[in-house]
Amino acid sequence: MNKERLYKYAELIVKVGVNVQNGQEVVVRCGLDQPEFVKIVVEELYKAGASKVKVEWSYMPITKLHYNYRSLETMSKVSEIEKAEWQEKVDILPCLLWLDSDDPDGLEGTDNEKISKANQNRYPIIKSYKDAIENKYQWCIAAVPGKEWAKKVFPALSDEEAVEELWIKILDASRVNEDPVDAWKKHNEQLSKRCKFLNDCNFDTLEYKSSNGTNFTVGLIEEGIFMGGGEYTLGSNIYFNPNIPTEEVFTTPKKGRAEGTVISTIPLSYQGKLIEDFGMEFKNGKVTKVFARTNQDLLEKMVSMDEGAAYLGEVALIGYDSPINNTGVLFYNTLFDENASCHLALGRGFSNCLKDYEKYSLEESQKLGINNSMIHVDFMIGSKDMEIVGVKKDGTRIQIFKNGNWVI
Ligand code: ZN
Repeated sequence: MNKERLYKYAELIVKVGVNVQNGQEVVVRCGLDQPEFVKIVVEELYKAGASKVKVEWSYMPITKLHYNYRSLETMSKVSEIEKAEWQEKVDILPCLLWLDSDDPDGLEGTDNEKISKANQNRYPIIKSYKDAIENKYQWCIAAVPGKEWAKKVFPALSDEEAVEELWIKILDASRVNEDPVDAWKKHNEQLSKRCKFLNDCNFDTLEYKSSNGTNFTVGLIEEGIFMGGGEYTLGSNIYFNPNIPTEEVFTTPKKGRAEGTVISTIPLSYQGKLIEDFGMEFKNGKVTKVFARTNQDLLEKMVSMDEGAAYLGEVALIGYDSPINNTGVLFYNTLFDENASCHLALGRGFSNCLKDYEKYSLEESQKLGINNSMIHVDFMIGSKDMEIVGVKKDGTRIQIFKNGNWVI
Protein backbone atom coordinates (compact mmCIF):
# COMPACT_ATOMS: atom_id res chain seq x y z
CA MET A 1 0.00 0.00 0.00
CA ASN A 2 1.08 3.50 -0.88
CA LYS A 3 3.02 4.95 2.11
CA GLU A 4 1.51 8.41 1.80
CA ARG A 5 -2.02 7.02 2.12
CA LEU A 6 -0.97 4.98 5.17
CA TYR A 7 0.41 8.10 6.87
CA LYS A 8 -2.89 9.86 6.19
CA TYR A 9 -4.77 6.93 7.70
CA ALA A 10 -2.52 6.96 10.78
CA GLU A 11 -3.04 10.70 11.16
CA LEU A 12 -6.81 10.17 10.92
CA ILE A 13 -6.73 7.50 13.63
CA VAL A 14 -4.57 9.62 15.94
CA LYS A 15 -6.19 13.04 15.46
CA VAL A 16 -9.81 12.18 14.68
CA GLY A 17 -10.10 8.67 16.15
CA VAL A 18 -8.57 8.78 19.64
CA ASN A 19 -7.71 12.49 19.32
CA VAL A 20 -4.81 12.06 21.75
CA GLN A 21 -4.05 15.13 23.86
CA ASN A 22 -0.72 16.42 25.07
CA GLY A 23 0.56 14.30 27.96
CA GLN A 24 -1.95 11.46 27.63
CA GLU A 25 -1.01 7.79 27.72
CA VAL A 26 -2.19 5.42 25.01
CA VAL A 27 -2.61 1.65 24.92
CA VAL A 28 -2.57 0.14 21.41
CA ARG A 29 -3.95 -3.39 20.98
CA CYS A 30 -3.14 -5.12 17.72
CA GLY A 31 -2.23 -8.35 16.00
CA LEU A 32 1.11 -9.15 14.37
CA ASP A 33 -0.14 -8.52 10.84
CA GLN A 34 0.93 -4.94 10.10
CA PRO A 35 3.88 -4.06 12.38
CA GLU A 36 5.08 -1.35 9.97
CA PHE A 37 1.74 0.39 10.11
CA VAL A 38 1.59 0.04 13.91
CA LYS A 39 5.00 1.73 14.01
CA ILE A 40 3.65 4.63 11.94
CA VAL A 41 0.69 4.98 14.32
CA VAL A 42 2.92 4.94 17.41
CA GLU A 43 5.12 7.62 15.85
CA GLU A 44 2.07 9.77 15.03
CA LEU A 45 0.79 9.32 18.60
CA TYR A 46 4.08 10.60 20.04
CA LYS A 47 4.20 13.47 17.56
CA ALA A 48 0.67 14.43 18.63
CA GLY A 49 1.81 14.66 22.25
CA ALA A 50 1.31 11.20 23.79
CA SER A 51 3.48 10.85 26.89
CA LYS A 52 3.64 7.05 26.76
CA VAL A 53 2.42 4.52 24.20
CA LYS A 54 2.12 0.88 25.19
CA VAL A 55 1.61 -1.68 22.41
CA GLU A 56 -0.10 -4.95 23.39
CA TRP A 57 0.47 -7.51 20.61
CA SER A 58 -1.64 -10.59 20.25
CA TYR A 59 -1.55 -13.57 17.94
CA MET A 60 -4.81 -15.38 17.39
CA PRO A 61 -3.40 -18.91 17.00
CA ILE A 62 -1.88 -18.54 20.48
CA THR A 63 -5.11 -17.10 21.89
CA LYS A 64 -6.76 -20.21 20.48
CA LEU A 65 -4.23 -22.46 22.22
CA HIS A 66 -5.03 -20.78 25.53
CA TYR A 67 -8.73 -21.38 24.98
CA ASN A 68 -8.18 -25.00 24.04
CA TYR A 69 -5.72 -25.99 26.75
CA ARG A 70 -6.65 -23.89 29.75
CA SER A 71 -9.28 -25.08 32.19
CA LEU A 72 -12.47 -23.16 32.84
CA GLU A 73 -11.09 -22.52 36.32
CA THR A 74 -7.90 -20.77 35.20
CA MET A 75 -9.76 -18.89 32.46
CA SER A 76 -12.32 -17.62 34.96
CA LYS A 77 -9.75 -16.11 37.29
CA VAL A 78 -8.91 -12.41 37.28
CA SER A 79 -5.32 -12.33 38.52
CA GLU A 80 -3.98 -9.71 40.94
CA ILE A 81 -1.82 -8.26 38.14
CA GLU A 82 -4.87 -7.93 35.92
CA LYS A 83 -6.74 -6.17 38.71
CA ALA A 84 -3.82 -3.79 39.18
CA GLU A 85 -3.81 -3.09 35.44
CA TRP A 86 -7.53 -2.33 35.53
CA GLN A 87 -7.00 -0.07 38.55
CA GLU A 88 -4.27 1.75 36.64
CA LYS A 89 -6.74 2.35 33.81
CA VAL A 90 -9.21 3.77 36.33
CA ASP A 91 -6.51 6.08 37.75
CA ILE A 92 -4.82 7.20 34.52
CA LEU A 93 -7.63 6.88 31.94
CA PRO A 94 -5.32 6.09 29.01
CA CYS A 95 -6.68 6.29 25.46
CA LEU A 96 -7.41 2.86 24.01
CA LEU A 97 -6.77 2.07 20.37
CA TRP A 98 -7.61 -1.24 18.74
CA LEU A 99 -6.18 -2.01 15.32
CA ASP A 100 -8.25 -5.01 14.37
CA SER A 101 -6.84 -7.48 11.85
CA ASP A 102 -8.25 -10.72 13.22
CA ASP A 103 -9.05 -13.77 11.14
CA PRO A 104 -12.88 -14.05 11.24
CA ASP A 105 -12.50 -17.83 11.49
CA GLY A 106 -9.56 -17.65 13.88
CA LEU A 107 -11.37 -19.22 16.81
CA GLU A 108 -13.08 -21.93 14.79
CA GLY A 109 -13.15 -25.16 16.78
CA THR A 110 -12.82 -23.59 20.20
CA ASP A 111 -15.22 -24.43 22.99
CA ASN A 112 -17.61 -21.48 22.90
CA GLU A 113 -19.36 -22.59 26.02
CA LYS A 114 -16.13 -22.59 28.02
CA ILE A 115 -15.21 -19.12 26.76
CA SER A 116 -18.68 -17.75 27.53
CA LYS A 117 -18.70 -19.29 31.00
CA ALA A 118 -15.23 -17.92 31.76
CA ASN A 119 -16.30 -14.44 30.64
CA GLN A 120 -19.43 -14.73 32.77
CA ASN A 121 -17.33 -15.69 35.80
CA ARG A 122 -14.86 -12.84 35.26
CA TYR A 123 -17.49 -10.22 34.61
CA PRO A 124 -18.58 -9.41 38.20
CA ILE A 125 -14.97 -8.54 39.13
CA ILE A 126 -14.18 -6.57 35.97
CA LYS A 127 -17.54 -4.78 35.95
CA SER A 128 -16.70 -2.31 38.72
CA TYR A 129 -13.56 -1.16 36.84
CA LYS A 130 -15.46 -0.96 33.56
CA ASP A 131 -18.20 1.10 35.16
CA ALA A 132 -15.62 3.41 36.72
CA ILE A 133 -14.06 4.36 33.37
CA GLU A 134 -17.20 4.26 31.21
CA ASN A 135 -17.52 7.33 28.94
CA LYS A 136 -14.47 8.94 30.57
CA TYR A 137 -11.69 8.03 28.13
CA GLN A 138 -11.08 8.31 24.40
CA TRP A 139 -11.07 5.07 22.46
CA CYS A 140 -11.08 4.05 18.85
CA ILE A 141 -11.39 0.87 16.83
CA ALA A 142 -9.91 0.91 13.34
CA ALA A 143 -8.82 -1.94 11.10
CA VAL A 144 -5.74 -3.14 9.26
CA PRO A 145 -5.71 -6.17 6.97
CA GLY A 146 -4.45 -9.47 8.28
CA LYS A 147 -3.58 -12.16 5.76
CA GLU A 148 -6.19 -14.69 6.91
CA TRP A 149 -8.88 -12.02 7.07
CA ALA A 150 -7.99 -10.76 3.57
CA LYS A 151 -8.09 -14.32 2.18
CA LYS A 152 -11.52 -14.84 3.71
CA VAL A 153 -12.82 -11.71 1.95
CA PHE A 154 -10.98 -12.35 -1.33
CA PRO A 155 -10.45 -16.12 -1.55
CA ALA A 156 -9.61 -16.04 -5.27
CA LEU A 157 -6.61 -13.72 -4.88
CA SER A 158 -3.05 -14.53 -3.81
CA ASP A 159 -2.09 -13.68 -0.22
CA GLU A 160 -0.36 -10.49 -1.24
CA GLU A 161 -3.08 -9.33 -3.62
CA ALA A 162 -5.80 -10.07 -1.06
CA VAL A 163 -4.07 -7.99 1.62
CA GLU A 164 -3.58 -5.12 -0.83
CA GLU A 165 -7.22 -5.29 -1.95
CA LEU A 166 -8.45 -5.32 1.66
CA TRP A 167 -6.25 -2.28 2.42
CA ILE A 168 -7.97 -0.47 -0.47
CA LYS A 169 -11.46 -1.39 0.80
CA ILE A 170 -10.60 -0.39 4.39
CA LEU A 171 -9.16 2.97 3.31
CA ASP A 172 -12.01 3.68 0.86
CA ALA A 173 -14.61 2.84 3.50
CA SER A 174 -12.75 5.07 6.00
CA ARG A 175 -12.71 8.09 3.65
CA VAL A 176 -8.91 8.13 3.47
CA ASN A 177 -8.53 10.22 0.34
CA GLU A 178 -7.16 13.72 -0.29
CA ASP A 179 -7.71 15.19 3.17
CA PRO A 180 -9.28 12.62 5.48
CA VAL A 181 -9.24 14.88 8.56
CA ASP A 182 -11.33 17.47 6.70
CA ALA A 183 -13.58 14.81 5.11
CA TRP A 184 -14.34 13.47 8.58
CA LYS A 185 -15.15 16.95 9.84
CA LYS A 186 -17.85 17.23 7.16
CA HIS A 187 -19.00 13.65 7.71
CA ASN A 188 -19.38 14.26 11.46
CA GLU A 189 -21.39 17.40 10.74
CA GLN A 190 -23.83 15.51 8.51
CA LEU A 191 -24.29 12.76 11.08
CA SER A 192 -24.96 15.29 13.81
CA LYS A 193 -27.58 17.04 11.63
CA ARG A 194 -29.48 13.77 11.31
CA CYS A 195 -29.21 13.23 15.05
CA LYS A 196 -30.60 16.69 15.68
CA PHE A 197 -33.60 16.02 13.44
CA LEU A 198 -34.41 12.75 15.21
CA ASN A 199 -33.85 14.25 18.65
CA ASP A 200 -36.12 17.21 17.87
CA CYS A 201 -38.84 14.72 16.83
CA ASN A 202 -38.40 12.78 20.09
CA PHE A 203 -40.13 9.71 18.63
CA ASP A 204 -41.90 7.29 20.93
CA THR A 205 -41.49 4.30 18.60
CA LEU A 206 -39.89 3.31 15.32
CA GLU A 207 -41.76 0.96 12.98
CA TYR A 208 -39.77 -1.19 10.54
CA LYS A 209 -41.14 -2.99 7.50
CA SER A 210 -39.38 -4.92 4.79
CA SER A 211 -40.47 -7.45 2.13
CA ASN A 212 -38.12 -10.07 3.63
CA GLY A 213 -40.45 -10.44 6.63
CA THR A 214 -39.20 -7.80 9.02
CA ASN A 215 -42.22 -6.32 10.76
CA PHE A 216 -41.10 -4.79 13.96
CA THR A 217 -41.78 -1.95 16.38
CA VAL A 218 -39.30 -0.72 18.95
CA GLY A 219 -39.95 1.73 21.78
CA LEU A 220 -37.55 4.56 22.50
CA ILE A 221 -36.63 6.16 25.81
CA GLU A 222 -38.24 9.56 26.32
CA GLU A 223 -34.98 10.97 27.73
CA GLY A 224 -33.00 9.12 25.04
CA ILE A 225 -30.99 10.74 22.26
CA PHE A 226 -29.63 9.60 18.93
CA MET A 227 -25.88 9.89 18.51
CA GLY A 228 -23.56 9.50 15.55
CA GLY A 229 -20.00 10.20 14.54
CA GLY A 230 -17.82 11.62 17.27
CA GLU A 231 -18.62 11.97 20.95
CA TYR A 232 -17.25 13.80 23.99
CA THR A 233 -15.57 12.25 27.00
CA LEU A 234 -17.25 12.78 30.33
CA GLY A 235 -15.42 15.27 32.51
CA SER A 236 -12.57 16.17 30.16
CA ASN A 237 -14.92 16.96 27.22
CA ILE A 238 -12.57 15.70 24.48
CA TYR A 239 -14.13 14.99 21.07
CA PHE A 240 -13.19 11.61 19.60
CA ASN A 241 -14.47 9.06 17.07
CA PRO A 242 -14.86 5.60 18.61
CA ASN A 243 -15.19 3.89 15.24
CA ILE A 244 -13.36 4.35 11.96
CA PRO A 245 -15.29 3.98 9.75
CA THR A 246 -18.74 4.90 11.05
CA GLU A 247 -21.95 5.64 9.17
CA GLU A 248 -24.52 5.05 11.85
CA VAL A 249 -26.93 7.21 13.79
CA PHE A 250 -27.88 5.19 16.84
CA THR A 251 -29.56 5.12 20.21
CA THR A 252 -30.38 2.66 22.96
CA PRO A 253 -34.05 1.65 22.89
CA LYS A 254 -36.22 1.21 25.95
CA LYS A 255 -35.79 -2.16 27.58
CA GLY A 256 -39.04 -4.07 27.44
CA ARG A 257 -40.50 -2.37 24.38
CA ALA A 258 -39.94 -4.35 21.19
CA GLU A 259 -42.55 -6.36 19.30
CA GLY A 260 -42.56 -8.40 16.12
CA THR A 261 -40.13 -10.14 13.83
CA VAL A 262 -36.74 -9.06 12.50
CA ILE A 263 -34.94 -10.83 9.68
CA SER A 264 -31.21 -10.39 9.38
CA THR A 265 -29.81 -9.34 5.99
CA ILE A 266 -26.10 -10.07 6.55
CA PRO A 267 -24.59 -13.16 8.22
CA LEU A 268 -23.33 -12.61 11.75
CA SER A 269 -19.75 -13.50 12.54
CA TYR A 270 -19.83 -14.45 16.23
CA GLN A 271 -17.13 -16.16 18.29
CA GLY A 272 -15.36 -17.17 15.12
CA LYS A 273 -18.45 -18.75 13.56
CA LEU A 274 -20.91 -17.57 10.96
CA ILE A 275 -24.63 -17.46 11.80
CA GLU A 276 -26.50 -17.30 8.49
CA ASP A 277 -30.06 -16.57 7.37
CA PHE A 278 -31.33 -15.87 10.82
CA GLY A 279 -34.02 -13.88 12.54
CA MET A 280 -35.83 -13.52 15.82
CA GLU A 281 -39.13 -12.66 17.40
CA PHE A 282 -39.67 -10.15 20.19
CA LYS A 283 -42.40 -9.85 22.78
CA ASN A 284 -42.36 -7.22 25.52
CA GLY A 285 -38.85 -6.31 24.46
CA LYS A 286 -37.48 -9.81 24.87
CA VAL A 287 -36.37 -12.34 22.28
CA THR A 288 -38.87 -15.19 22.47
CA LYS A 289 -37.66 -17.21 19.50
CA VAL A 290 -34.58 -17.37 17.27
CA PHE A 291 -34.10 -19.19 13.99
CA ALA A 292 -31.06 -19.61 11.77
CA ARG A 293 -29.97 -21.75 8.83
CA THR A 294 -26.51 -22.22 10.36
CA ASN A 295 -25.28 -22.21 13.97
CA GLN A 296 -28.71 -21.71 15.48
CA ASP A 297 -27.43 -23.26 18.72
CA LEU A 298 -24.79 -20.53 18.97
CA LEU A 299 -27.44 -17.87 18.49
CA GLU A 300 -29.58 -19.48 21.18
CA LYS A 301 -26.63 -19.53 23.54
CA MET A 302 -25.87 -15.90 22.75
CA VAL A 303 -29.34 -14.66 23.70
CA SER A 304 -29.26 -16.62 26.95
CA MET A 305 -25.79 -15.50 28.12
CA ASP A 306 -27.37 -13.46 30.90
CA GLU A 307 -30.67 -11.77 31.70
CA GLY A 308 -30.00 -8.77 29.44
CA ALA A 309 -28.72 -10.73 26.45
CA ALA A 310 -32.25 -11.28 25.11
CA TYR A 311 -33.04 -7.54 25.20
CA LEU A 312 -31.93 -4.83 22.81
CA GLY A 313 -29.08 -2.44 23.55
CA GLU A 314 -28.91 -0.54 20.28
CA VAL A 315 -30.96 0.66 17.33
CA ALA A 316 -28.87 2.06 14.46
CA LEU A 317 -29.93 3.76 11.25
CA ILE A 318 -27.75 3.66 8.13
CA GLY A 319 -28.76 4.26 4.53
CA TYR A 320 -28.60 1.21 2.27
CA ASP A 321 -26.46 3.28 -0.10
CA SER A 322 -23.68 3.59 2.50
CA PRO A 323 -20.08 3.71 1.16
CA ILE A 324 -19.44 0.41 2.89
CA ASN A 325 -22.44 -1.36 1.40
CA ASN A 326 -21.46 0.10 -1.96
CA THR A 327 -18.09 -1.67 -1.80
CA GLY A 328 -20.20 -4.79 -2.33
CA VAL A 329 -17.91 -6.66 0.04
CA LEU A 330 -18.90 -8.69 3.08
CA PHE A 331 -16.02 -7.90 5.43
CA TYR A 332 -16.81 -10.60 8.04
CA ASN A 333 -16.00 -7.88 10.56
CA THR A 334 -18.58 -6.02 12.63
CA LEU A 335 -16.79 -2.66 12.39
CA PHE A 336 -17.49 -2.64 8.65
CA ASP A 337 -20.52 -4.86 8.27
CA GLU A 338 -22.40 -3.03 11.04
CA ASN A 339 -21.94 0.19 9.08
CA ALA A 340 -23.30 -1.33 5.90
CA SER A 341 -26.97 -1.07 6.82
CA CYS A 342 -29.52 -0.56 9.58
CA HIS A 343 -28.89 -2.79 12.55
CA LEU A 344 -29.89 -3.74 16.05
CA ALA A 345 -27.73 -4.98 18.87
CA LEU A 346 -28.63 -7.40 21.61
CA GLY A 347 -27.22 -6.81 25.07
CA ARG A 348 -25.60 -3.89 26.79
CA GLY A 349 -27.00 -0.47 25.96
CA PHE A 350 -25.17 2.84 25.98
CA SER A 351 -25.81 4.90 29.10
CA ASN A 352 -24.57 7.99 27.26
CA CYS A 353 -27.54 7.76 24.86
CA LEU A 354 -29.51 9.79 27.41
CA LYS A 355 -29.87 13.55 27.36
CA ASP A 356 -27.52 14.98 30.05
CA TYR A 357 -26.52 11.42 30.84
CA GLU A 358 -23.95 12.53 33.40
CA LYS A 359 -26.70 13.42 35.84
CA TYR A 360 -27.85 9.78 36.06
CA SER A 361 -26.14 7.05 38.00
CA LEU A 362 -25.72 3.77 36.14
CA GLU A 363 -28.59 2.32 38.16
CA GLU A 364 -30.83 5.26 37.30
CA SER A 365 -30.01 4.98 33.60
CA GLN A 366 -30.95 1.32 33.74
CA LYS A 367 -34.24 2.24 35.39
CA LEU A 368 -34.98 4.55 32.47
CA GLY A 369 -34.60 1.57 30.15
CA ILE A 370 -30.91 1.21 29.25
CA ASN A 371 -30.29 -2.52 29.06
CA ASN A 372 -27.36 -4.12 30.87
CA SER A 373 -25.58 -7.29 29.78
CA MET A 374 -22.10 -8.68 29.36
CA ILE A 375 -22.67 -8.94 25.60
CA HIS A 376 -23.27 -6.34 22.92
CA VAL A 377 -23.72 -8.01 19.54
CA ASP A 378 -24.77 -6.13 16.40
CA PHE A 379 -26.70 -7.72 13.58
CA MET A 380 -27.88 -6.23 10.30
CA ILE A 381 -31.51 -5.85 9.30
CA GLY A 382 -31.28 -3.08 6.66
CA SER A 383 -32.63 -4.03 3.26
CA LYS A 384 -33.13 -2.43 -0.13
CA ASP A 385 -36.84 -1.84 0.47
CA MET A 386 -36.84 -1.11 4.18
CA GLU A 387 -39.34 1.48 5.36
CA ILE A 388 -39.02 3.10 8.77
CA VAL A 389 -41.63 5.37 10.29
CA GLY A 390 -41.12 7.35 13.46
CA VAL A 391 -44.20 7.75 15.63
CA LYS A 392 -44.46 10.55 18.17
CA LYS A 393 -46.31 10.29 21.49
CA ASP A 394 -49.26 12.23 20.01
CA GLY A 395 -49.52 9.74 17.15
CA THR A 396 -47.85 11.91 14.48
CA ARG A 397 -46.10 9.67 11.94
CA ILE A 398 -42.99 10.76 10.04
CA GLN A 399 -41.34 8.56 7.46
CA ILE A 400 -37.58 8.53 8.00
CA PHE A 401 -36.51 5.67 5.68
CA LYS A 402 -37.90 4.81 2.26
CA ASN A 403 -36.50 2.13 -0.08
CA GLY A 404 -33.69 1.49 2.37
CA ASN A 405 -32.44 5.07 2.51
CA TRP A 406 -32.85 8.23 4.57
CA VAL A 407 -35.77 10.44 3.63
CA ILE A 408 -34.54 13.32 5.79
ZN1 ZN B 1 -23.98 0.13 16.00
